[in-house]
Amino acid sequence: MEIKVLRVGQLQTNCYLIWDKETSDCFIIDPGDDADFITTEILNQKLKPKAILLTHGHFDHCLACLELKLNFNIPIYLNQKDNFLYQNSAKSANHWTTSGALKQPATSPIPDDLKLGSEEIKVISTPGHTPGSVCFYSAPNLFTGDTLFAEGIGRSDHSYSSSADLKKSLDSLAKMPLDTIIYPGHEESAVPMNILSID
Ligand SMILES: [Zn+2]
Repeated sequence: MEIKVLRVGQLQTNCYLIWDKETSDCFIIDPGDDADFITTEILNQKLKPKAILLTHGHFDHCLACLELKLNFNIPIYLNQKDNFLYQNSAKSANHWTTSGALKQPATSPIPDDLKLGSEEIKVISTPGHTPGSVCFYSAPNLFTGDTLFAEGIGRSDHSYSSSADLKKSLDSLAKMPLDTIIYPGHEESAVPMNILSID
């Protein structure tokens, strides 16, 4: 699997393009903003986008969804427990930033059999930061959204967050193979899991 990180938006979200080298089939993980920049990268690399994967419904992870959907006519996969956040994301963005975001297009539930070329992408439910947070895993790569960062863990002080759920989620991630590499939603990416202390 090929991985490219793109820093997007005012909150500097890590958007990831992941693709299969043979087929150039591509998923866009967390297109937080800057749809033109993401689109240009996809065209430059001659990738074939198949879907947008969202780790959760916060606005800084999904503001480019509308334009990318219009550009590539691809589905947007989101754990439906986060749809209330996603549907509100344009409004939240206008409150917290100067994005001038529009309404968001509809999402679909994340399918069980997510594949990129011959590689399976496992969806790991990691509630806590938001009720519908997930991580995407294709050994050894783990895309953690705002659940786990290189230096810390996700916020759980929103009204809909749960620090107890987040702790359980982090406990389950801590049991993953030692060679796991994490790709968080912000800041440093491609960090070996074995140097992190999750507690
Ligand atoms: Zn978040």
